[in-house]
Amino acid sequence: MSTNTFTKEWLLEQLEKWFETSGIKIKDEDVIEITKEIEEESNGPLVKSLEEAANNVFDSNVRLCGECKTIMIEGYLIHDGDAYYCSDECLYKNWTIKEWEEVTKDDDSSCYWTEWLERRPEETVIEKYFVVYNSMDNAHDFGLLTQKELTFEEALQEIKDDIPKELFDSVIKEELEHLNENLEAEIGHRFYRIVLKNT
Ligand SMILES: [Zn+2]
Repeated sequence: MSTNTFTKEWLLEQLEKWFETSGIKIKDEDVIEITKEIEEESNGPLVKSLEEAANNVFDSNVRLCGECKTIMIEGYLIHDGDAYYCSDECLYKNWTIKEWEEVTKDDDSSCYWTEWLERRPEETVIEKYFVVYNSMDNAHDFGLLTQKELTFEEALQEIKDDIPKELFDSVIKEELEHLNENLEAEIGHRFYRIVLKNT
């Protein structure tokens, strides 16, 4: 499945088919959320095509504003699905403030703001690592191996450079390469730590 299929134009085309409405609008940030969801759905075991994955997501996670034709992943739900509005502006073109207050005053009202697709937290980027090691074999005190800020691969290289190659290859290589953050390892008589530092 080619990821360059996930353009805004492709998504809008699918949405117009789904809602049988042309001229649908969508916010750029929602394009990102919806296409991520489709991508995940398309990796599911029962999904046969990208269109099918998209349809599943539209069915569960996407609604169309009845006033301005903007796609929404959160918004006002009216009477469990009679209508949907993306914003106060669109809501109050169809309801007076008084009517809305009246219909939402009970806790179990069927009119409320809701989220059909939870926004993902922004991905935290892991940027820098330090390597530390004990300079004395078997000692408990750890000292910095280098003062440089390193990527994980560079951190591994620092350890590699610090011990005989055969030892690295035979003892710890595989284990190290499967780790991607805080690590403590004993190699030969030395202990090594790779400590994650978020910058
Ligand atoms: Zn709207």
